[in-house]
Amino acid sequence: MSIEDLSDDTKVIKTTTRPDPETGAINPPIQLSSTFAQPDLDHFGKYDYTRSGNPTRDVLEESIAALEHGTRGFAFSTGMAAISTAFLTLHQGDHVIVTSDVYGGTFRLVTQLLPNYGIDYTFVDCDDPAALKAAFKPNTKVVYIETPSNPTLKVTDIRQVVQIAHQHDALVFADNTFMTPIFQKPLDLGVDLVLHSGTKFLAGHSDILAGLIVTKTKELGDAIYFIQNAMGATLGISDCWLLLRGIKTLSVRVKAEAANALAISKWLQAQPIVEGVNYPGLDNFAGHDVQFSQATSGGAVLSFDVGTEDNVRKLVKELKIPVFSVSLGAVETILSYPPKMSHAELTPEERHACGISDGLLRLSVGVEDVEDLEADFQQAFEKIGVSQLQR
Ligand SMILES: *Cc1c(COP(=O)(O)O)cnc(C)c1O
Repeated sequence: MSIEDLSDDTKVIKTTTRPDPETGAINPPIQLSSTFAQPDLDHFGKYDYTRSGNPTRDVLEESIAALEHGTRGFAFSTGMAAISTAFLTLHQGDHVIVTSDVYGGTFRLVTQLLPNYGIDYTFVDCDDPAALKAAFKPNTKVVYIETPSNPTLKVTDIRQVVQIAHQHDALVFADNTFMTPIFQKPLDLGVDLVLHSGTKFLAGHSDILAGLIVTKTKELGDAIYFIQNAMGATLGISDCWLLLRGIKTLSVRVKAEAANALAISKWLQAQPIVEGVNYPGLDNFAGHDVQFSQATSGGAVLSFDVGTEDNVRKLVKELKIPVFSVSLGAVETILSYPPKMSHAELTPEERHACGISDGLLRLSVGVEDVEDLEADFQQAFEKIGVSQLQR
C-alpha cells in the first residue's frame, strides 16, 4: 500500500510520523543544524545548508505535497512569503489576473510591489466567465484565485477558471487556505500551484506563522525551489515541527469545526437580529452547488450581518466564548470585524461594493461545544435587545 492509496485521515498521520530506524523515535527529529558535514572533497551528502534543504522541513514538504496530490511541497516563513515566491515566477512585462475578492495582504503585494518590477495586474470577478475572458492580454501568465473568498465566502468555479486560463496559456494559482486539502484539492481540478497560509488551519492553534506551496508539475516545482533557495524565506525548523504536529490533527479538527460552522450558520439564520449569513454549506447560499462540485464541505469560516456597527460593538462586548481578533483556522472560535480589521484599507465605498457591510462579522468556528457557542450568542443578542428566544 503506497501513501497515495491512503485516505487523508490516515495520510495526515503516516506522512508526519516516521519511526527512526536507529532509535525508534516515532516523530521526525527537529534537526537544528544550519550546516551538514560532507564526506570529502568529491562527495556531497543530500544536505549541505538548511536554506537549501533540511530533513525536518523535508518531512513537512513531502506531507503537504502528498495531501494536495502535488509533485512537490515547499515551506515558507509566512503565507505572504509563499505568495510572494509564487509571484516571483513572473518576469518584467508579464501580466497577472487576480480575483477581486483576494486576501488583503495579497492585494497589497499585487498593487504596491509587483508594479515596481514591471508586472501588470487586472482584478476581475473570476466567477464571471465573460469578464475573465475579457481580462486576458497577450502577456497574461497567471490567473490567481481564492475560493471561498474572504469574508463574503463567494465561491469561484475552479474548473471553469482552469479551462479559460489554460486556453489562454496561463497558469492558475489557488490560495487553498480556507478549505485545506482535507476539503478541496485544487490540483485535482486542474490548478497548477496551490498556496496556503499554514498559520491558519494547517497549524491550527494560533501559534506559529507559516506558508506552503505545492506544485503540480516538476518544472514548476523546480522553478519554485530555485526561488525558495534564492530568496530564502524558508520556514524555521522548530516551526516546521510544530506545523507537522498541527497536520496530524488537521482532518479531525477541520471536520469538527465545519460541523460546528454548519450548525451555527443554520442557527444564526433563524435569529431576528441577523440579516444574512454567508456560508457555502447552507443549501440556500448562492455558491452552494459549485462548492459541493469541487469541495466536500462548506468549511469552518462564515460571515453574518447584524445590521449596524453599533450592534457589532455591543455584540463584541457581550460575547464570552469567541476571541475577538484577526486570523482564523484555529481550535478556538475567532470573531473578527472585517471593516476595521482585514479590510480596513478599503474605503467604505469599496467595502460596500464587495459586500462587506458595516454590520458584517466573520466567524472562524473552533472545536468548542456548539450549544455553548449558540447560548453565548443568544445571551449577547438578548442584551442587544432585538432577539427573541428561539429555543
Ligand atoms: C492569512 C492569510 C494569508 C497570509 O498568510 P500569513 O501567514 O499571515 O502571511 C493568505 N491568504 C489567506 C486566505 C489568509 O487567510
